[in-house]
Amino acid sequence: MSKQTHSFQAEVAQLLHLVTHSLYSNPEIFLRELISNASDACDKLRFEALNDAGLYEDAPNLEVRVSFDKEAKTLTITDNGIGMSTQEAIDHLGTIAKSGTKDFMGKLSGDQKADAQLIGQFGVGFYSGFIVADKITVESRRAGMKPEEGVRWISGGTGDFEVESITRAARGTSVILHLRDDAEEFLNAWKLKQVIGKYSDHISLPILMEKEEWKESEKEGEPGAMVKTGEWETVNKASALWTRPKKDITDEQYQEFYKAISHDYENPLTWSHNRVEGNTEYTQLLYIPAKAPFDLYQRDKHAGIKLYVKRVFIMDDAESLMPSYLRFVKGVIDSADLPLNVSRELLQESRDVRLIRDGSVKRVLSMLEDLAKHDKHEAGAQADGVTDVVSEEDKAKEGKYTQFYAEFGAVLKEGLGEDFGNRERIAKLLRFASTTSDTPSVSFADYKARMKEGQEAIYYITADTLAAAKNSPQLEVFKKKGIEVLLMTDRVDEWALNYLQDFDGTPLQSVAKGAVDLGKLQDEAEKKAAEEAAEAFKPVLAKLKEALKDKAEDVRATTRLVDSPACLVVQDGGMSTQLARLLKQAGQKAPDAKPVLEVNPEHALVKKLDGSVHFHDLAHILFDQALLAEGGLPEDPAAYVKRVNALLA
Ligand code: ADP
Repeated sequence: MSKQTHSFQAEVAQLLHLVTHSLYSNPEIFLRELISNASDACDKLRFEALNDAGLYEDAPNLEVRVSFDKEAKTLTITDNGIGMSTQEAIDHLGTIAKSGTKDFMGKLSGDQKADAQLIGQFGVGFYSGFIVADKITVESRRAGMKPEEGVRWISGGTGDFEVESITRAARGTSVILHLRDDAEEFLNAWKLKQVIGKYSDHISLPILMEKEEWKESEKEGEPGAMVKTGEWETVNKASALWTRPKKDITDEQYQEFYKAISHDYENPLTWSHNRVEGNTEYTQLLYIPAKAPFDLYQRDKHAGIKLYVKRVFIMDDAESLMPSYLRFVKGVIDSADLPLNVSRELLQESRDVRLIRDGSVKRVLSMLEDLAKHDKHEAGAQADGVTDVVSEEDKAKEGKYTQFYAEFGAVLKEGLGEDFGNRERIAKLLRFASTTSDTPSVSFADYKARMKEGQEAIYYITADTLAAAKNSPQLEVFKKKGIEVLLMTDRVDEWALNYLQDFDGTPLQSVAKGAVDLGKLQDEAEKKAAEEAAEAFKPVLAKLKEALKDKAEDVRATTRLVDSPACLVVQDGGMSTQLARLLKQAGQKAPDAKPVLEVNPEHALVKKLDGSVHFHDLAHILFDQALLAEGGLPEDPAAYVKRVNALLA
């Protein structure tokens, strides 16, 4: 094939522009990204060769070579991995296959500093080469294809790239970076070794560089120079990080490994590295990121846990190894017992995989429990006058759970519905805002510890926003009696809470569902007064029911209101009006159950009802206002306005 010119997918062109304009502050990461790609390519070859040993041709030792040419100002990263066919080069290097790319691009602000952070989460991979190069040449041949079927890909990193056929004897890929003038520091063996040591020590493949030695100049008085010897040496540790003993691994190495596997630019919040022996033997190295990725809610995207079998990379399949509610976890699991040719189907059925998954979930929950335990340390002298000593290690954990929860709390809640076996542990990890705290910092246990004497339930309310929850009329009586109510404003809350009937023996009760029953919290006199008021109110109720029979399932008197005349509640076990509204907005089906209107017989407006000539209008205004108060809209807003205006006039 002779030279062809192709355009980059629009998103790639946009990304390239950003890469060159935003990421220059940390240029050396390009080497990590390209070596990581080279290593992935070798992993892929090893995996495909399980079924076709011929793919190794006559070079079974997988490796990466890094070399440079001072005169030509090029830096080359070569691997003998799987390689690319012409079509693969066009597809893989000209488009971005990641789902959600468009959405991601839409989020970029044009503010380079902010965008650089976002790009970090997105992972720029191959394109990071353009941080240091103004032209990249890729030469490749796919394993198993003929030498004449090689491909050369060239681009200056702007709108388009060229491809042509070449003959290439060696299987695999060379990425040749034509360095910019300001990136010439990478034409130096010391510098390269230092960067490789920092970012790629954990790569299990050997990374080779040509040895250099000092040579005096032949001419008297002129300085000597380093010259290449033709001999290659391994410049990284070349042992997979997780296979090394914990004590030999520094925090920095753990962090760099995380960044390499996750493409995250930030350090993780915490990690856990263990060798598990028992029914099945495996090593797990699991990380909790500090920031949610841009595609956390893309349900189809499920990568993050890399599965190895006896150090051979098998697949990036978080689904079989981690449930969806822990999809933010990154890491590596290396099994000693699974067969090397394990397929996706087999993964789903394997008993070993189930044990590994259970063990990994438990490990993640323990990590979170540990962070939660050390989140806040109230320093100070204890009763006996002894001041606590907090270890440095524990101190470093302070505030981390709050940070974790802000990023991933809503996802963790999905676990209530997804993981019945661990429901109680998950419930303990949840935090909510409440009528005593605007920030999500109240656990069910905190709540229970503050419950009033005689209080028999954990009360909560769900709403679209914190303000709507806080000002909801349904809270009035709770505020008056000083009873704390948890305020839930995540979309997932109502769905998730469905799966949690009680916490530690105390039932959970939505204050917007069913009749309010404060049980022992109400004293006898109050109860009696309420009953009497309700009795006297009966004729009005009957008339209200009749007037609103198309809108309300029922109309009843309530003691839950103090300042408001009326509110809407749903029948016990029914879907809240808020959730029904959300579903309808999302174009989904929601039951059309009519709500119950509860009215406050003590309210001036309600007292006016009896005998009023405007009874019908007042009844409808009461109902529509109750709807407005919880963020809904009257069915016929114009009619509502008309009624109110008529009264005002
Ligand atoms: P990612 O690695 O996150 O998929 P990249 O932009 O780094 O994204 O690379 C895009 C694709 O190009 C890779 O998924 C892979 O298919 C291909 N690729 C990149 N480098 C190599 C390589 N050295 N050998 C084979 N394929 C490669």
